[in-house]
Amino acid sequence: MECSVASGLVPEGAKVQQSTITQADLETAIRQKSWTGKFSPALEAAYLSYVRQYHVGYLRSTIIPSLFIYNAFLIADYLLVPDSFGLTLMLHLGMVSIWILVVGLSLKNVHGPVVPQLLAVSIPILMIAQIMMVYSASESVAKEQYQYLAIPIVIYMNVVIRPDRRFALGASALITALYSTTLIVGSAPFSVKLVGISTIIAVAYLTLSANARMERDTRHAFLRRLQDEHHRNQSEEAANRDALTGLSNRRHLDSWVNANWERLAQDNISIAIVMLDIDHFKSLNDRHGHTIGDRCLEKVADLLSKNLRDTSDMAVRYGGEEFLVMLTAADLTTAKQFAERVRHALETMSLDIEEECLYLTASFGVMAGPASSHAIEELIEGADSALYNAKLSGRNRVCPPSRLRKKQSGDDKAAAAAL
Ligand code: GH3
Ligand code: MG
Ligand code: MG
Repeated sequence: MECSVASGLVPEGAKVQQSTITQADLETAIRQKSWTGKFSPALEAAYLSYVRQYHVGYLRSTIIPSLFIYNAFLIADYLLVPDSFGLTLMLHLGMVSIWILVVGLSLKNVHGPVVPQLLAVSIPILMIAQIMMVYSASESVAKEQYQYLAIPIVIYMNVVIRPDRRFALGASALITALYSTTLIVGSAPFSVKLVGISTIIAVAYLTLSANARMERDTRHAFLRRLQDEHHRNQSEEAANRDALTGLSNRRHLDSWVNANWERLAQDNISIAIVMLDIDHFKSLNDRHGHTIGDRCLEKVADLLSKNLRDTSDMAVRYGGEEFLVMLTAADLTTAKQFAERVRHALETMSLDIEEECLYLTASFGVMAGPASSHAIEELIEGADSALYNAKLSGRNRVCPPSRLRKKQSGDDKAAAAAL
């Protein structure tokens, strides 16, 4: 069976529908280990949304260090190509540094898969262009060492900026072409050209491999985190469910109330509680066995679930054969109608279990009131007390809260036990 994986790793507003990632997708990707580029479409979209969440922030954090380190290399320019230092200074400060700042400021406002990466890789491309322009213009004897400043820039691009592999490949090809062309048309000896071009190709290849490996690691970490989150959600879900019926359990009701009651009170929402207890269930167990009893509980749970109005209502297995339904934005009349509908459906429903046609009835107690003036415990107590009255007055009926009964007298309890 395939089940969808909802994840907090996928940011809200991401184009991908979280529900389209299936458990099978996730397991296949984890088993695969080495990806030939991409995951399945839904997983790939989720991955890209996830990495882009932090990649732009990370790129922005590299702007100031890049600016500082790049301009620190002015010392190397001064030592190696002093004859072109004026040009160097102009290109450094008047062109590349300004562009780095423009990119840094623009990254705050640009989105999507392409523009931020294009902006980011434009910085090293421009840096290489600056180096090659100064290299071409200089007559210095040390200029053959100067051209090797291109190497840290390729490393900076593929390892620090770490664009997606398509961008990394494209920008590396462009830089290698720019560098090689400048060397080929220049006047350097053949051996210098050969060593220079081979070195830049080797550096581009090695840094692209590192880039690809890092991307693989990031993808793997993403899958692991997605899987961990999925397992956490599953455990959380299991801890909130009753194992037999699949309904919410009391723990879930308590945590839901803790998380939502204040809001309901602020909005002055009326909450209704319906408590129901199956009639004479002990004798059904005694006659048909516990397993059949369990199947009956499952059928009652199904009936309740089917009758819930929407997701803000909650059906809870409250005790052995006792259920609670919480209806939000419901008054006593709505609660009585709901209870009456379920009562009637149960009474007339034949539970065909192991070729036996069994009929069940249940007794219902209802209570309602605004969350602003009632604690959930008060409402439950009221519904429980009404349920008690329903049992007392003959079972298979719906009773509203009784103002008479706060505490049952001893006689009442004896009468109830006798019924
Ligand atoms: P009343 O009409 O007064 O509610 O009578 P009753 O027999 O239903 O009530 P009582 O509380 O005396 O008995 C509840 C029975 O529910 C006792 C127990 O055998 C049964 N029960 C509780 N939990 C389970 C369960 O998980 N599975 C099954 N099969 N039976 C259960
Ligand atoms: Mg009972
Ligand atoms: Mg009971």
